[in-house]
Amino acid sequence: MRKQLVKEVATKGIKSRAVLEALGKVPRHFFFEKIFDVHAYEDKAFPIGEGQTISQPYTVAFQTELLQVKTGDKILEIGTGSGYQATILLELGAKVFTIEYQKKLFEKTIKFLPSMGYKANFYQGDGSKGLPEKAPYDGILVTAGAPTVPEALVQQLKVGGRLVIPVGDNKKQQMILIHKISRTKLTKKAFDHFRFVPLLGEKGWK
Ligand code: SAM
Repeated sequence: MRKQLVKEVATKGIKSRAVLEALGKVPRHFFFEKIFDVHAYEDKAFPIGEGQTISQPYTVAFQTELLQVKTGDKILEIGTGSGYQATILLELGAKVFTIEYQKKLFEKTIKFLPSMGYKANFYQGDGSKGLPEKAPYDGILVTAGAPTVPEALVQQLKVGGRLVIPVGDNKKQQMILIHKISRTKLTKKAFDHFRFVPLLGEKGWK
């Protein structure tokens, strides 16, 4: 079923072999309660409690492809949720820092991921301001919909670093890629629209 899902995601336009291979390695059904695990290999988001979702595999692949992760890259993920996206980044050889706003989800995932053998650095708090104490990062990935691009996130990127963030209103958000070319120069590209849960916190929807 996982192989079939990888094919489906490739058909939808994901080209990175590394990303597709990572998707093919992570047992997504472990992230689901047993009674719901028949849904694990559908290309769909799914509720994980606390009003949050595990992102759709295509969306995870799309954001990860834009990030262009290389082995050893230091990546900040904002919105740990179930931890699924973090495992994809770990499979790509990244050093992962991940921050979650909701205490219950943080407490669940900080135990669950290591039980599967995945080692990330977990934080609980408002990621809309980034995680300045561990900056700078090669990449920052926001997995919740933001009203605007928080300036703090751009500041926490290394030169050459990339920020992938969905920006829009509560109905749909456009995927934005910001590439920090030099200390003062950025490029910005906009891609398809997606639908995320809202980024909360000071630089989010409050
Ligand atoms: N990456 C997750 C995964 O693989 O399961 C999907 C996460 S879900 C679509 C978005 C997550 O962002 C939710 O868990 C939500 O609680 C979290 N979130 C929202 N605002 C946040 C903030 N300001 N800081 C950190 N996490 C936040």
